[in-house]
Amino acid sequence: MLTRHLLKQASTCRHFLSNSKTSSPFLTKSILFSSSSSSPESQSPTNTFVDDKVNDQYPTGTSISIDRSALYNLPDHSHEPTSDSELVKHLKGIIKFRGGPISVAEYMEEVLTNPKFGFYISRDVFGAEGDFITSPEVSQMFGEMVGVWAMCLWEQMGRPKQVNLVELGPGRGTLMADLLRSASKFKSFTESLHVHMVECSPTLQKLQHHNLKCFDEDDNSDGVEKRTVSMLAGTPVSWHALLEQVPSGMPSIIIAHEFYDALPVHQFQRASRGWCEKMVDVSEDSMFRFVLSPQTTPATLYLMRRCKWAAPEEIEKLGQIEVCPKAMDLTRTIADRISCDGGGALIIDYGLNGVVSDSLQAIRKHKFINILDNPGSADLSAYVDFASIRHSAEEVSEDISVHGPMTQSQFLGALGINFRVEALLQNCTDEQADSLRTGYWRLVGEGEAPFWEGPDEQVPIGMGTRYLAMAIVNKKQGVPVPFQ
Ligand code: SAH
Repeated sequence: MLTRHLLKQASTCRHFLSNSKTSSPFLTKSILFSSSSSSPESQSPTNTFVDDKVNDQYPTGTSISIDRSALYNLPDHSHEPTSDSELVKHLKGIIKFRGGPISVAEYMEEVLTNPKFGFYISRDVFGAEGDFITSPEVSQMFGEMVGVWAMCLWEQMGRPKQVNLVELGPGRGTLMADLLRSASKFKSFTESLHVHMVECSPTLQKLQHHNLKCFDEDDNSDGVEKRTVSMLAGTPVSWHALLEQVPSGMPSIIIAHEFYDALPVHQFQRASRGWCEKMVDVSEDSMFRFVLSPQTTPATLYLMRRCKWAAPEEIEKLGQIEVCPKAMDLTRTIADRISCDGGGALIIDYGLNGVVSDSLQAIRKHKFINILDNPGSADLSAYVDFASIRHSAEEVSEDISVHGPMTQSQFLGALGINFRVEALLQNCTDEQADSLRTGYWRLVGEGEAPFWEGPDEQVPIGMGTRYLAMAIVNKKQGVPVPFQ
């Protein structure tokens, strides 16, 4: 009964989508144009919660296309202009002292998460004032629907008294804030939760603390560890740099939204001598450039593993392949935890259900730029290889089942986003109604919104089919909603 009801929702959603005007396979992250009231409180999420009574503004947005880069030969030496940023100096230092180029994955990891200079480490990169916009920032409905998914899984788990609710890479904390706020009416659920935020950026950890309305309980000096509690639902919250640091021994519900796409990828290129790894080097005029590795690199092991999971025809037609060892290893850690402790994981990202060829892109201030251009000043992200996630999880244990991927539009539609948007539209201002419609289109639509009457450059572009959802669960719980 429930399944039929959910499927009906999904098909309503698809019907709505068929009205779309255009779509591009190259659109990925959403880019926001905003005339917006640039809020002095850049600490707060871009979207503002709309309840039956509460009001606020949403900005509008659109998306962009992809970037490509070229290959050259190895240089003899490099020199460093004094205008280089600290991160650029650091990267050139690694290449110089190691006596040769570094992998694209190492470059990507340093650029994004270097503890001192990484892109994510010291600032808020999201929303109108930042570099790109994500679904939780587009509309509160995204976090609410993920909350419905988490609650359904908790029901399927038999309503355990204690659960780790883990979010990997929570950004501003908007998804978790919307989830907790909407779930706060379901006390038995929220009372079971301990929220764990896995976040490498101290700046974003602070922002998450603020947006989850956390307070640190007074230290009574009675030997009991001080707790941090979110006032949104009365749940304890902890922060960690790694998933491995989240306590085990109780079931976990793990959410990874736009986390996998930030994990470093190795790029391989087909050459006359076989697959060669693409590396980053410094040219004679001190510029970064790509070169091909003359020898086999350690990441080739992961390339071989990835190719084993694919049909030969799928590989034969490709001139380039990306592999993400960190995604494979993370998935194994997730699957292992779920297999031992119970629970499940939800992964939502843009990507393919198959081998990814050449997808790495750099985004700065809502525009695509060259990957090697002023590293640290732009986000780097790559398509997620969902087939590789499936294989990595399935190899861990027989107790695990993997579901999807399905499109974000099917996922949110099946969870009832149509009902939610209609309920919110019943009681809001005209301005909020516009924002809700725009946000709804961005989350579930495909291509440009057909109802848009504003300026062309601000037309909302749907993320509904570009983003995919996949679940990994312990088989004990059966098939998770809405993957039945
Ligand atoms: N999920 C959020 C943010 C996505 S951006 C949203 O959808 O809005 C990626 C997030 O992952 C950022 O919070 C970034 O700081 C974090 N992150 C990236 N690499 C990480 C790593 N290796 N370990 C922990 N956090 C990481």
